[in-house]
Amino acid sequence: MRKPIIVGNWKMNKNNAETKAFFEAVDGVAASENATYGIGCPFTDLRTALDGAKNLIVAAENCHFEDAGAFTGEVSVPMLQEMGVKYCIIGHSERRAMFGDTDETVNKKAKRLIDADITPILCIGETEAQYDAGETEKVIREQLTGSLANLCPKCVANIVIAYEPIWAIGTGKSATKEDAQNCCAIVRDQVRVMYGDEAADSVRVQYGGSVKPNNIVEYMACPDIDGALIGGASLKEDSFIEIIEKTK
Ligand code: PEP
Repeated sequence: MRKPIIVGNWKMNKNNAETKAFFEAVDGVAASENATYGIGCPFTDLRTALDGAKNLIVAAENCHFEDAGAFTGEVSVPMLQEMGVKYCIIGHSERRAMFGDTDETVNKKAKRLIDADITPILCIGETEAQYDAGETEKVIREQLTGSLANLCPKCVANIVIAYEPIWAIGTGKSATKEDAQNCCAIVRDQVRVMYGDEAADSVRVQYGGSVKPNNIVEYMACPDIDGALIGGASLKEDSFIEIIEKTK
């Protein structure tokens, strides 16, 4: 039985005061036996978020795959580990498009995180042009082949994969529940091809792309969708609380 996991992605938003206020308002509501709720926040907010989190899980939004060295501006996995961070988003489409992340670097990040006992939330998804060209399945399978290369089946069983069609991120143009289900089923099938039944049946697959309080329930009802990665609707206490209340 897969436990649903719904995580907000704040991107480059909120300072420490705003983070503290958010966790004071939302953390109590997130207590649930049935689902895990969390927030991915900027590095500068992690300490405040971890201090305010009794129920919410806290995720970093990126990491470097090297432990230390001449990588100005980067943050390593041991640094996150020392803080007590247990989840880390990797390969978000904004990082792939603007900061040079590739399947190869995402794979290195996944390996390093798994070694540190931090759960990767691995993002994949096709562009609008790829969607229009009917290449979605090919893109999903290729991204997973690269990003999940040479891991162990038990490790893959415990990660989270966020399928996020890029054309649906921050646009208000969400995928239909049929498309989202179909793509999350392809994600699971590719995990099955690469790592077998146990990994495929255990790995949690999120849908991301303009998820809001008014559509979360229909996505969560899909058999291969085990959660959501949520940008805009995770920034306001009210909308994230509504999402939690509709799914716990
Ligand atoms: C995201 O940031 O990963 C995302 C899905 O954003 P939004 O929910 O705003 O589309």
